[in-house]
Amino acid sequence: MAYIVALTGGIGSGKTTVANQFAKLGVPLVDADIIARKVVEPNSPALAAIKNRYDENIIQSDGSLNRQHLRKIIFSNESEKQWLNALLHPLIQQETQRQLQQITNPYVIWVVPLLFENKLSHLADRVLVIDVTPEEQIQRTMQRDNVNQEHVANIMQSQTSRENRLLQSDDIITNHDGESDIAEKVAALHEKYMTLAQQNK
Ligand code: ATP
Repeated sequence: MAYIVALTGGIGSGKTTVANQFAKLGVPLVDADIIARKVVEPNSPALAAIKNRYDENIIQSDGSLNRQHLRKIIFSNESEKQWLNALLHPLIQQETQRQLQQITNPYVIWVVPLLFENKLSHLADRVLVIDVTPEEQIQRTMQRDNVNQEHVANIMQSQTSRENRLLQSDDIITNHDGESDIAEKVAALHEKYMTLAQQNK
């Protein structure tokens, strides 16, 4: 089994930007967001179960899940949220393990935005946090997603605090505006992770 480095950070912190730098060095990525979408792809058993439970608006004309509609349902209903989590959580875990076990590289970057919120850090050998200020998170996300400040602030409220994330980190990459040495920081961590993976064998 490869050495697992979980890469996390708040919304808009730069997780994708940093993960892409690791990928450039040939490091494989396992992406929690992609897995969460994969388990409910068209014709999947989980999507069939969701379709059974709710009205037909839950499926879009192309056969894919109407996430916005589902979000609305579970936002106002704790028991439905629990039902959905009970359905999806084991499937996501199973697919994550399947992908991690296929890795032949000494280490893997597991990109997992809600690592602490979903209490998953015990599944990683090491935790890398991408750190920026809340102001930068708001600014970047508003710009990237064309949403207002309140929208971003609400999402940030639902995520763990910057302080808590930093407390639970093993490594930190700061990614403030105008920082141009992300590639160097990633290269240094890459060396470190190769060594740790070797020692961990
Ligand atoms: P999310 O959790 O929302 O998916 P993320 O953590 O993956 O976000 P990115 O998508 O990598 O974050 O970055 C958020 C936005 O900020 C992007 O538009 C990206 O281009 C920009 N960005 C990333 N790093 C910097 C930087 N150092 N300076 C300015 N902008 C940056």
